[in-house]
Amino acid sequence: MRKNIAAGNWKMNLDLDASVSLAQQISEQSVPAGTAVILGVPFPFLFSCSLHTGTNPNVFLAAQNCNEQESGAYTGEVSLKQLKSVGVDYIIIGHSERREIFNEADELLAKKLTAVLDAGLKCIFCCGEPLSVREANEQSAYVEAQLKNGMFHLTEQQLESVILAYEPIWAIGTGKTASPEQAQEMHAHIRSVLKNKFGAAASEGISILYGGSVKPANAKEIFAKNDVDGGLVGGASLKAETFIPIINSF
Ligand code: PEP
Repeated sequence: MRKNIAAGNWKMNLDLDASVSLAQQISEQSVPAGTAVILGVPFPFLFSCSLHTGTNPNVFLAAQNCNEQESGAYTGEVSLKQLKSVGVDYIIIGHSERREIFNEADELLAKKLTAVLDAGLKCIFCCGEPLSVREANEQSAYVEAQLKNGMFHLTEQQLESVILAYEPIWAIGTGKTASPEQAQEMHAHIRSVLKNKFGAAASEGISILYGGSVKPANAKEIFAKNDVDGGLVGGASLKAETFIPIINSF
């Protein structure tokens, strides 16, 4: 079911005290009807934050990455079973920082996505083009290829456990936001790509988030667009004063 979603991605920021305090402040909010809040918390603080997110039925916990293997000799990695055992609901897969800095290619992301769903967890699957692709006006084909390679192996039923996030890389952490019209245009394109593959019901049912310098001052205008169902928020999710107004922007 399509929902309004405000998702925060804390990345490699905050310490234990700051994480717990932020999770507590957000979890104490009364979230508007039809809206879900998801907090993308660093691995070491997931369990402590789950003690707060678990108290609000509309606030969920996300990990920012996972390993696709079940268990074993993978030093430094974290499995889905481990994440599930500390109360994680969602995994963020395919964020551009994982794609670019950690060289995670479509093939690996497709495996991670399957592993997430097989583990009974949900996924926020990210896509989005770099500046050079936008300047060449090739963003539609670029994002379509990311979707085909990363998630076209899913069934229509599996798609129900996926949220999509369109994040143009040139807008992430740059203060440069896509215009509401640019976001709407890409989200409508994504929905039509999904409709061709999975059918009308599935494409209408999936939430598609916009990510890239969302802040209290621009959230309302972006979220008001027909095919924009909320945001994946980096910098502005790190403080209650900036994230709470975004939650209330639908
Ligand atoms: C992100 O990292 O997903 C993101 C959108 O960051 P920011 O909001 O800081 O641009």
